[in-house]
Amino acid sequence: MSRSSAACVSHFLPSLLLLIAGLAAAYVKDLNVFFTSLFNVLPTLVLLLGGAYCAVYRRQRELFLMLTVYIAYFLLDTQTDYYRDNGVVRPDAAVIFHVCSLLLPLLYSVYAAWEERTHLFQDLVARFAVLLAIGSVALGLEQSYPQALLNWLAEIRWPALHGRWMSLIQLSYPVFFIGFVLLGWQYWRNPRPLHAAQLVGLVGLFWMLPQTFILPFTLNIMCSQVMLMIAAAVAHEAYQMAFRDELTGLPGRRALNERLQRLGRNYVLAMSDVDHFKKFNDTHGHDVGDQVLRLVASKLSKVGGGGRAYRYGGEEFALVFAGKTLDECMPHLDELREAIAVYNIHLRNQENRPQDDQQGRQRRAGTRATSVSVTVSIGVAERMPEQRTAEEVLKAADKALYSAKSAGRNCVVAYGQTRRGAVRTTEIPA
Ligand code: GH3
Ligand code: MG
Ligand code: MG
Repeated sequence: MSRSSAACVSHFLPSLLLLIAGLAAAYVKDLNVFFTSLFNVLPTLVLLLGGAYCAVYRRQRELFLMLTVYIAYFLLDTQTDYYRDNGVVRPDAAVIFHVCSLLLPLLYSVYAAWEERTHLFQDLVARFAVLLAIGSVALGLEQSYPQALLNWLAEIRWPALHGRWMSLIQLSYPVFFIGFVLLGWQYWRNPRPLHAAQLVGLVGLFWMLPQTFILPFTLNIMCSQVMLMIAAAVAHEAYQMAFRDELTGLPGRRALNERLQRLGRNYVLAMSDVDHFKKFNDTHGHDVGDQVLRLVASKLSKVGGGGRAYRYGGEEFALVFAGKTLDECMPHLDELREAIAVYNIHLRNQENRPQDDQQGRQRRAGTRATSVSVTVSIGVAERMPEQRTAEEVLKAADKALYSAKSAGRNCVVAYGQTRRGAVRTTEIPA
């Protein structure tokens, strides 16, 4: 599986698991007292915890998504409780249910697609104003003209488009449809865990609404699951921010430090550094340098032999081979070095106007070549019994890297080993 498709799976996986768990729980008949009590408090609990969590991280979009789901839950729960206790629906059940069927997908899609751009406080006020305006108009109409509102909502406007499976008001379907298109497009443009969670959350709501009065705890379960999806996505993104390098998408230094703490007794560490990268930046410009770093990172991420690449900092990358010996890793490292050296990188965006003169000079220098290539030097060290910490092994790999630079660059040098067969490989004594 490629790295990008693996990333997409990881974006959708938590929400899909929550959705499946929600569907499974909703279909369970004869729940015991423990679960019925749990489902009664779950939405409020999730809102309080998830909402506090979003507030701490200043994620207002997610906070309002949760609020929207919770308000719909609250309105509908009053109805389902009455229905469960009395066996008949409340007189206002139809109008409340239809209003929720229309406004829940509408507000959910609006908040989900509405990115946080302006000042935090203005953003908060704007989102609150939308909620207040739509909510008060709906409430006003429901209180003053319930029958007229019900008739308007229940009317079938496009008989040709009305399927027998549609158990919600017809107006709700185009709103869901637009929501799916909008959120699908948003994920396609910017694939991130939150956008995936919002999309799966909308699927959950789409499934939930028609079942509200049919399956006993559907409403409580699915509203909780959708709010949990959003909270989980916030946690996922916070984790990514801390552990992933934004430029290359590789795990960053913090992730490497964590990994180093959990290595067993046998492992190999390698440090790789792009050769003459300062000169490369000066010649082609920093933006092209960034593109090249991304491409080098993508090659490094595909290293064989079970190696895992991390961005150590700048144009330096670390490779971790857990449970491997130097002999096992060397061919893969040399293959990697070779793959980078022969790779012709075609420059993009050369026609974009530079933002300043300095950049302009760098870009003009860059436009002369249509493709460029870089090489990397790699230093490797295998853990020796006398080495107590992974940091010591990493230092040894760094020393070997210096030797690789001294040896003329574009080569792999191992620390503390005698010379072996690989043609382009050099080793230094410890
Ligand atoms: P050597 O072969 O000895 O490694 O030479 P070098 O020029 O690569 O070494 P040096 O460490 O002096 O330079 C590293 C350069 O990498 C300096 C900086 O301009 C560049 N660099 C570091 N991080 C980034 C980055 O994120 N993007 C870009 N474009 N350049 C970076
Ligand atoms: Mg360097
Ligand atoms: Mg360098």
